[in-house]
Amino acid sequence: MNADHRVPAWPALIADADLRPHNSFAVRARAAGLTALTRIEQLDDLVEAAASYPQAPLLLGDGSNVLLVDDYAGLVVLNQLYGRRLINQDDEHAWVEIAAGENWDQLVDWSIAQGWFGLENLALIPGRVGAAPIQNIGAYGVEFESLCAAVQVYDPKAGNLQWLDAAQCQFAYRDSLFKRAGSRYWITAVRLRLRRRHQPNCAYAGVAEELQRLGLDDSQASSIAQAVRSLRRRKLPDPAQIGNAGSFFKNPVVSPEDANALGQQLAGLPRFEQDDGRCKLSAAYLIDQAGWKGYRDGDAGVHANHALVLVNHGQASGAQLYALAQRIAADVHDRYGVRLQIEPRVICAAGEP
Ligand SMILES: Cc1cc2nc3c(=O)[nH]c(=O)nc-3n(C[C@H](O)[C@H](O)[C@H](O)COP(=O)(O)OP(=O)(O)OC[C@H]3O[C@@H](n4cnc5c(N)ncnc54)[C@H](O)[C@@H]3O)c2cc1C
Repeated sequence: MNADHRVPAWPALIADADLRPHNSFAVRARAAGLTALTRIEQLDDLVEAAASYPQAPLLLGDGSNVLLVDDYAGLVVLNQLYGRRLINQDDEHAWVEIAAGENWDQLVDWSIAQGWFGLENLALIPGRVGAAPIQNIGAYGVEFESLCAAVQVYDPKAGNLQWLDAAQCQFAYRDSLFKRAGSRYWITAVRLRLRRRHQPNCAYAGVAEELQRLGLDDSQASSIAQAVRSLRRRKLPDPAQIGNAGSFFKNPVVSPEDANALGQQLAGLPRFEQDDGRCKLSAAYLIDQAGWKGYRDGDAGVHANHALVLVNHGQASGAQLYALAQRIAADVHDRYGVRLQIEPRVICAAGEP
């Protein structure tokens, strides 16, 4: 999969590197070393190079789901493994293998152009393919796990590559084996099972209305991708304009009893019944009700239109954003008894808190 014109020359290792261009919060942080992974054959050498640093290596895609709280004393490795190929197909499905450094949104367009469907609701999610399994990315009623056939991982301790099937990945809402395992696995490729017939999925709030607004219908997957992109551009702040990592907190899932009790306190509380009988609540609603929407402390703030999105107005540090997140979570807990969990990976000098 590496015979690709986008594979850059063998990368140099940069000491004391600036990580600001490599995180969508645009916080200032430095890495003791920075390099790129461009070929599978390079993996063992990278592990050897990383061993001379006091902190374990950190594999990064586009940095759109991390909060860098401190400088990083280890080797940061940018994932630049490229390649996409069809590995099998039958009447119903096409199985494709995608290298982990591919851009996610470009993959969406590529798959639609090939006549392979299922990714369209996940259009415009920032980042690279290798990070998609980590938090089982999801949007507009579709999650990565529903399309995942297998994930190829490199274990830097054992020095071997293996494929894990979807069940082994233990996907859950914004969670997976990989998110819980920290830096134990480096994802090098994924295999997806895509449909050869377009089946529109427009049930999620807003998609059908957006198609109508754009004068489109759901008969083409490309139209759905266009509607999703249009919705996302309108709703979510662009990290190129203002630093952010998308939703900063996961929606909390609570027992029906707890949801009922909270419903007495907050009459308009949105709740979404889950298959296991529990209720998913809207973290954005709780944060908004607690009065944090639009809050700003120096350059660390909460977006004025989107209570779930923490923003860097310019010079906020990762530590300031993290402190703000902790204040919000503590306040929501005090008021409503609900514990909010942070969605992005928080990277501190001592690893993840
Ligand atoms: C504006 C905005 C909107 C967003 N909307 C959504 C959304 O709708 N749904 C959603 O689910 N997410 C969303 N996100 C979050 C983010 O886009 C996804 O989590 C994405 O998959 C992150 O990709 P990345 O390459 O930037 O990962 P990074 O931020 O580089 O990495 C994330 C974490 O995964 C680890 N990691 C990255 N690549 C690998 C690898 N190959 N192997 C092992 N570990 C790895 C990193 O060490 C880090 O801990 C949004 C973010 C932004 C900024």
